[in-house]
Amino acid sequence: MEFLNTRIDNLTFDETLDRIEALIDNGAGGYVVTPNVDHIVQLETNEKLRKAYQEAALSLTDGQPLIWISKWLRCPIKEKISGSDLFPRLCELSVRKGYRMYFLGAAPGVAELAAENLKKKYPGLQIVGICAPEYGFEKNEAQKEKIWQDIHKTQPQVLIVALGAPKQEIFLWEHRKELKGILAFGFGACLDFEAGRIKRAPRWMQRSGMEWFYRLCKEPRRLFKRYLIDDMKILPIVWKYRKVGRNENRN
Ligand code: UDP
Repeated sequence: MEFLNTRIDNLTFDETLDRIEALIDNGAGGYVVTPNVDHIVQLETNEKLRKAYQEAALSLTDGQPLIWISKWLRCPIKEKISGSDLFPRLCELSVRKGYRMYFLGAAPGVAELAAENLKKKYPGLQIVGICAPEYGFEKNEAQKEKIWQDIHKTQPQVLIVALGAPKQEIFLWEHRKELKGILAFGFGACLDFEAGRIKRAPRWMQRSGMEWFYRLCKEPRRLFKRYLIDDMKILPIVWKYRKVGRNENRN
């Protein structure tokens, strides 16, 4: 459905997993985006991110504030499906179906630690490759080519890309032709969470839409501008798009 300045696949968590399974099994490949307030704000001005969003195989809603806005605009989104909640379920699915996973991104050592923890939690999980390229790698064509060679060599069906937004979405869009047979997920800080490097907010905070506040308290310097200045631009955006999809989305 149309929602604000983007498209959302309005699915429950279980429907999302079924859709992911079907997408992986049909082998067409592609990538999944998880819009949150920050992405919606960036979509207003970032042309490349907009293109990346338009071509995503699946667009899921990350963050309680967007669910509230959807209700307020009377085009309710069924369920919050954040990358960090989806990641463990994706690991379960991958064990059940024998999907091979590749981790791209996060600081050196983080993905390895996340992989160790995940293999303990989900016995049988196949993590066939890990790559933590240095900052700025996206400007180096030779390095990117090497990364894709390694990914293709290990033949994953699931590619977890943890480069933060909008870098990960734009990277996946620019390299969408490399994704034949691979479903990629732009999952931001999820490897940091699984490695235990950053703690997730307690459940009650996640449910009450306060996860952003928890993360702000943990990393105030990095996140102050994002959450308290940039993300406030969501208010005029909601007003601007308040009528989008209101009729066709009603059911
Ligand atoms: N990151 C990276 N390479 C880059 C930029 C970011 O590996 O060039 C990683 C960074 O180490 C962190 C994640 O991307 O693990 C970014 O997390 P952030 O909190 O920005 O993501 P969000 O979930 O907020 O989009």
